[in-house]
Amino acid sequence: MHFDTLKFAEEEVAALKKENRFLKPRVLESAQEPVSVIDGKKVVNLTSNNYLAMANNPKVKKAAIEAIEKYGVGSAAVRTIIGTMSLHEELEKKFAAFKHADASILFQSGFTSNVAVCQSLMSSENDLLISDELNHASIIDGARLAKAPRKIYRHKDMKHLAEILETPEAKKARRKMVVTDGVFSMDGDIAQLDEVVAVAHKYGAFVMVDDAHASGVIGKEGRGTVSHFGLDGKVEIQIGTLSKAFAAVGGYAATTRELRDYLGSVARPYLFSSSQPPSVAASCLAVLDILLTDPRHLKNLWDNTAFLKEELRKAGFDTGASVTPITPIMTPKAAEFSGRLFEEGVFALALGFPTVPRGKERLRTIVTAGHTIKDLEFSIEKFKKAGKELGII
Ligand SMILES: *Cc1c(COP(=O)(O)O)cnc(C)c1O
Repeated sequence: MHFDTLKFAEEEVAALKKENRFLKPRVLESAQEPVSVIDGKKVVNLTSNNYLAMANNPKVKKAAIEAIEKYGVGSAAVRTIIGTMSLHEELEKKFAAFKHADASILFQSGFTSNVAVCQSLMSSENDLLISDELNHASIIDGARLAKAPRKIYRHKDMKHLAEILETPEAKKARRKMVVTDGVFSMDGDIAQLDEVVAVAHKYGAFVMVDDAHASGVIGKEGRGTVSHFGLDGKVEIQIGTLSKAFAAVGGYAATTRELRDYLGSVARPYLFSSSQPPSVAASCLAVLDILLTDPRHLKNLWDNTAFLKEELRKAGFDTGASVTPITPIMTPKAAEFSGRLFEEGVFALALGFPTVPRGKERLRTIVTAGHTIKDLEFSIEKFKKAGKELGII
């Protein structure tokens, strides 16, 4: 197929290739497992967000299959038409309880959850959205769709946040929302949520925390950063994703009953995009049940995290500010490093501009509860070998 009218696409692709920004993903040919088949090769997979190793769990798969048998493959409607199934309501109830909130509202993804909340609540030029500079792209896009002006504070800089809240613009705002990731996805560091909440509330702002990488990972029983900091009942909006530790796809906002009901009448992704397939909702409920009844998965995740971090540090790698299962290895040679490791049987993704700023290139590793010590020892040996070859350590 060829269109003269689309000639610009060739030029754009050529420009991306020249800047090393052209993306060609590797392809997973097996289930998402600690050891996966990727591009035809069996490798230790240190790249997925499958924190609790639930993506191919037999109990979770069974729940999905049973939901298909009972409810079919899809709702074929948006929530407000006839796409609200009993499983969606059950999920909203159980995930609200998981977050110690009064209610929750389900969206198709974490991305759309952020967009929905930012766009719906920051709906006037007289509102103000205040965001950490390292927040996720979906918060940035949500802010772009909001009518409110936005201010960006330096990463975790509470003095800067307070300065913004003290400006005349902030003082006269109708509503003020402070937004932060709970766990930052590129560095694996945690927001100082207790301080964010204290500063925000001092100035009459409310807080939205995006716990995509924290739900099912940190806090008591994996309840997230609010639980981690003992802030139950003190954070207005908690966003969770069902696409990472919960291993399927989806997202939700846990909040008050009134705010939930308001979003259910105005949030555009909720009103204009169809609801999650029942099998997806059922598998998320199954993961939640496992998480709440069997502490071994979370323990394995954190044991593996401690082991990998310690060994990487001992080997001399710079693992940045991480305190979570996301462990970056800071190196300008990230792309070559990732390529060498893959040849050796380990997959860890290289991240470069524009995902991270220039000069902050890194390899990012994420361990899961399913990796064995043998998988990790094998990986560390390969990290050392490739790291020495490339002069990283
Ligand atoms: C992954 C991620 C999202 C998007 O979640 P999806 O469910 O994959 O759409 C949102 N926020 C943060 C911080 C993330 O890391």
